[in-house]
Amino acid sequence: MSVKSTIEWTDATWNPIRGCVKVSPGCKNCYAERFAQRFRGVRGHPFEQGFDLRLVPEKLREPLRWLTPRMIFVNSMSDLFQEGVPISYIGDVGRVMEEANWHVYQVLTKRHTRMKELISGPLAWLGELPNVWFGVSVEDRKYGLPRIKALLETPACVRFLSVEPLLEDLGTLDLSGIDWVIVGGESGPKARPMEEKWVLSLLGQCRQFGVPFFFKQWGGVRKHETGRRLRGKTYGEFPTTHKWKNPN
Ligand code: SF4
Repeated sequence: MSVKSTIEWTDATWNPIRGCVKVSPGCKNCYAERFAQRFRGVRGHPFEQGFDLRLVPEKLREPLRWLTPRMIFVNSMSDLFQEGVPISYIGDVGRVMEEANWHVYQVLTKRHTRMKELISGPLAWLGELPNVWFGVSVEDRKYGLPRIKALLETPACVRFLSVEPLLEDLGTLDLSGIDWVIVGGESGPKARPMEEKWVLSLLGQCRQFGVPFFFKQWGGVRKHETGRRLRGKTYGEFPTTHKWKNPN
């Protein structure tokens, strides 16, 4: 996928894996699936195989060629920790993040159990890299809260939540040990609604715990019309953690 990203909380996307399998309600209207399936069967297209899982080793070294430091969303069109991705390949991805350490990498997953197991075990060195941020998607209480728990038990330097698409009020969260919270509503033709009071609750809890808050979008069918202002203000905060130090 493209080097430059239109996603508000990152600079670039890097997809050394393509394709994924749906695991929870947040996946229902998956953008990546919609995009990939359009090109199934188109010979020579990167998504010729649609949304089927595929490793893309020729993309592995891409960040090493990007000399300007960037925040890079890892696998925006997939999920690094899904079962079909061999541990050795996750390690290959990690080695590039270790080598091209002038970038920050944002690794977001819904496979929290495997992430925790690997970062606590065979890939523990990956959790020690200060320029690799690990995050989980949180769309509701049933699926999201266990992911937060697993993330807190994952020995990572920087941990974040992507609360998108926010589908219900999440109640009271434990944000101690969380370094960043992104919140957003669903966008696209079948977008499910998000209520302002759910967002305000998360903002209040972030303020209580001193956690940077990034409000990405209201979403909806025409997300450019609904924008990303919350009560007249734009929230675009990032982790201020001392654990991450840009070598440049
Ligand atoms: S985990 Fe992410 S990429 Fe995979 S199906 Fe769900 S929303 Fe799509």
